Amino acid sequence: MAKKSKGKQTAKKDIRRGGVRRQERRFVSQASTSANVVRAFGALAALLLGAGLWGYFYAKSFADDEALRAVPSYLIAAGAVVMGVTIWIGTSSEPPIRVGAPGISAEKGELRRMPWWAVEKITFESGTLALVVAGKDESGSDWTFKVPVKPHPEAVAWIVKEALDRVPRRVDIEDGLLDAIPEAHAHAGQRVDLEPLQVVGKRCAVTGKTISYEPDARVCPRCERVYEKKSVPKKCKCDNSLVHLRPKPLEGIDEVEEVDAGGDDEASDERTSTKTLAADETASS
Ligand SMILES: [Zn+2]
Repeated sequence: MAKKSKGKQTAKKDIRRGGVRRQERRFVSQASTSANVVRAFGALAALLLGAGLWGYFYAKSFADDEALRAVPSYLIAAGAVVMGVTIWIGTSSEPPIRVGAPGISAEKGELRRMPWWAVEKITFESGTLALVVAGKDESGSDWTFKVPVKPHPEAVAWIVKEALDRVPRRVDIEDGLLDAIPEAHAHAGQRVDLEPLQVVGKRCAVTGKTISYEPDARVCPRCERVYEKKSVPKKCKCDNSLVHLRPKPLEGIDEVEEVDAGGDDEASDERTSTKTLAADETASS
């Protein structure tokens, strides 16, 4: 219940034009090796490099001994290798992940984005402890990616939280596993402010027509599906109510036109009948 009311709240906020804050959170992966191991390797590398360089340039410790002359060079070489290992285990190859209004994105070179409406399924692999997100990217091509919990605990937490708020039916995680997923902290990640969604060039989710004029578009605040304003359904495919996005004044005009044009309209029939009834009443009294 709490989730539902939250969704409504954001929807209400989004009605106010201009006051909409489109945001996402950016998560940089954490190294999977423990920090102390990385520190130990780093210290060893520094020692080796330092000893090697000192021996090489200043001490000339082994300069007299033919067999040991190369020792400082070996120290430097070993130090360089250990430094490389330190960097390798100290950083993770997992790309930064973004979660927010526009969907789920991975920063692998370029930003690749999966809008919420394109998410087909979110599952959790208990074996590899990774969230598996399947769907389509912005260009419409199939895309499945994994977000492992270890380097990305906060990203996983936020993907699950937002997905449960926005596209709950796409989340296919057993309750037992849901408990294992880390909690989404309010201050996790780095918040990124975004421009409003570019609707021009997008296709209406109902008619497939390309939007060419921005004011003609309506966007579902939950999944960012784009609709042409005349084709906005009462309910989005993500289950969000879009009644507030339907053009009310236009509907009114249509009704008036219909009543004017066709006299045999049901509504107008009713109206005339009630009018005549009223007239009868006044006449009789
Ligand atoms: Zn929607």
